[in-house]
Amino acid sequence: MGHADGVLGVGDAGVEEHAVGAEFHDHRHLAQRILAEFDGELPCDPAVLISFQGVGPKCAHLALGIACGEAYISVDIHVHRVTNRWGYVQAKTPEQTMAALEEKLPQGYWIDINRLLAPFGKHICTGKLPKCSACPVLAMCQQVGVKAHW
Ligand code: SF4
Repeated sequence: MGHADGVLGVGDAGVEEHAVGAEFHDHRHLAQRILAEFDGELPCDPAVLISFQGVGPKCAHLALGIACGEAYISVDIHVHRVTNRWGYVQAKTPEQTMAALEEKLPQGYWIDINRLLAPFGKHICTGKLPKCSACPVLAMCQQVGVKAHW
């Protein structure tokens, strides 16, 4: 993963000029902890990533997949909705969907599924009125729970 020095090296004055305020200080605090506890380099360890405030399995798994190249599934609300509408999994929460996908989805797709399904869920298989009539996977989809669509 990237080194935390980059965040700490940015001068306060310049940053505050650009009004990033609280968010920058959160990042600075994060960078300080990474330097102090991990010598500036976060390990590819889900338990470590989840120990940071505000980091859940979705973000941790995304980082581990992209930055570390390790097979983890990141399930956001889009991956959860789409895979359940397909009928590929039957799960009530993103956490349950993640566990179900870990059982069923071949590992070669674990990293890519978020990158592929997040935009698909934002633009085609949307929360309200999914665009089923224009959907490229309509023939393979069970449309579970879909009561109305374009
Ligand atoms: S057919 Fe409809 S419900 Fe199924 S994936 Fe496509 S947009 Fe989503």
